[in-house]
Amino acid sequence: MDILSQAMRNLGKTAVISANRRYTYDQILQSSDSISRHLLDVAPKLPGADPPRVGIYSAPGAEYLAGTLAIWKAGCIAVPLAVSHPPRELAYVLQDSGITAVLSNQESASKLSQVSTEARAHLHIMDSVDSTVLLPSDNTSSALSGRFGFSSVDQENREAPHQLDPKPSETGALIIYTSGTTGKPKGVLHSHRSLRAQIHGLVQAWRWSSQDTILHTLPLHHIHGIVNALYCPAFVGATTSFMPKFSAVEVWNEIMAGHVSVFMGVPTMYSFLLAHYDQMSSEQQALARQSAAALRLTISGSSACPVPIMNKWKELSGKYLLERYGMTEIGMALSNPYEGERRPGTVGAPLPGVTVRIQDDGELLVKGDYLFSKYWGREEATREAFTSDGYFKTGDSAELTSSDASERSDDSSLGSIESSAVHQYYQIMGRTSVDIIKSAGYKISALMVESVILEYPGVSEVAVLGVPEEVYGEVVTALVALKPGSKSVTQKDLTGFCRERLAPYQAPKRWKFVESLPRNAMGKLNKKELLKTILETGQ
Ligand code: ATP
Ligand code: MG
Repeated sequence: MDILSQAMRNLGKTAVISANRRYTYDQILQSSDSISRHLLDVAPKLPGADPPRVGIYSAPGAEYLAGTLAIWKAGCIAVPLAVSHPPRELAYVLQDSGITAVLSNQESASKLSQVSTEARAHLHIMDSVDSTVLLPSDNTSSALSGRFGFSSVDQENREAPHQLDPKPSETGALIIYTSGTTGKPKGVLHSHRSLRAQIHGLVQAWRWSSQDTILHTLPLHHIHGIVNALYCPAFVGATTSFMPKFSAVEVWNEIMAGHVSVFMGVPTMYSFLLAHYDQMSSEQQALARQSAAALRLTISGSSACPVPIMNKWKELSGKYLLERYGMTEIGMALSNPYEGERRPGTVGAPLPGVTVRIQDDGELLVKGDYLFSKYWGREEATREAFTSDGYFKTGDSAELTSSDASERSDDSSLGSIESSAVHQYYQIMGRTSVDIIKSAGYKISALMVESVILEYPGVSEVAVLGVPEEVYGEVVTALVALKPGSKSVTQKDLTGFCRERLAPYQAPKRWKFVESLPRNAMGKLNKKELLKTILETGQ
């Protein structure tokens, strides 16, 4: 895999900062060598065409980089797991992907031991603190002692790091589970070739360099956290600084200390950062503005970034967040430009190597080298996900809002693919299944309505849904959470506000005030569940 050969050019540099420790690329490679030797000894070879699946389970940290490299060197498929997952979900992923071994560490292993025993997956402890001994979880045999450590590297007996076949291959590399927003999470298999294509595309489009340090606060079991925010920096020899649990205060501290150049987040994180900014003293705010302006790149993705958040970030830092659109199955597909105008409410143009098409019904289709190989163990779902001419059906509705060639920049530093695409701005209207509301013969984008409601002062969160009903077909319904101190906002206020900004058929007909909205680890709403609750409770 390219990450490995590239990382070897940056041996002395800091690859990862996690749990107050620094790991150089050299240490990561050394660790991955000994873990892979261990895996080659113990990972059971399964019959069949697919390589063994090996899970990684720890709090976000260096383990994920050393672990995936090791798993690839051993010819296995890596499956990043989440410490935040309840046992039932972990059991599902272990069983669904057929994981036979899990790499974990002392701190996290106990949480997984029962689940892994039940799934007959062997748990192997990576100890990055004092010991360099890899022990099986039940401690019955210390003979399994592949020695490795993140912190203590035996310089005397070092062997040359293991080389991987540098050719990009179709061999499976990574299984990532979808966020489960619309149903049970599906295991998505990416090959070494598709990961390589994604990494190359993103490094080019977002100008990653070895000088970068990314502050990483995302979960690692999603493509956003592991490919965009870990493999890309590792590929260029940049530093990834982990903060395992997002905290607006801590993130601001890091930004204001000038420690980072890149931040990637989901819209909810930016909303927390802006709320914390509002509470700072004016001196702190001045420093926050200056430091945010100095960041090289701030990216938003995973769900639509409300325009008010975009505008507020621009006021604060002088720059819009760079919003992009992607999915587990396709990696990133559309991105606002790094240079050139970023348009709030849009996700920009196709990334290098990506081709998109919009169906007559508005569904966005995507083709290119970034695409996944298959849904793990779901052949029919894989077949159904593609058109006969090889496009992936995203299930999202999109519109091309602007593609004006006369506006094209003649910035020659942009590659030819990018310069031809730089003035295309696609807008994601939402998921065809839940966000495109069909009411009184109209099609309404829930995301557009949400964006307007969020502009109302005092609204902290909103979800707009189409609730089935006889007269309208679906009635536009808004669930609204108010900010503390704004509880006097009424349905009448919101209706008046929407009527001034939306067509009459777009404005919600029903309103429901809630304390907060239930979101998953990526800050996403499961609208099917919300709808079910509304229908069950009759509210
Ligand atoms: P599941 O497939 O299990 O239902 P999921 O689709 O949420 O879950 P992911 O692959 O993590 O799982 O997320 C991809 C989806 O996220 C896209 O299909 C799209 O709906 C949404 N998305 C990502 N980025 C954006 C964005 N910038 N604007 C709007 N939607 C986005
Ligand atoms: Mg999906």
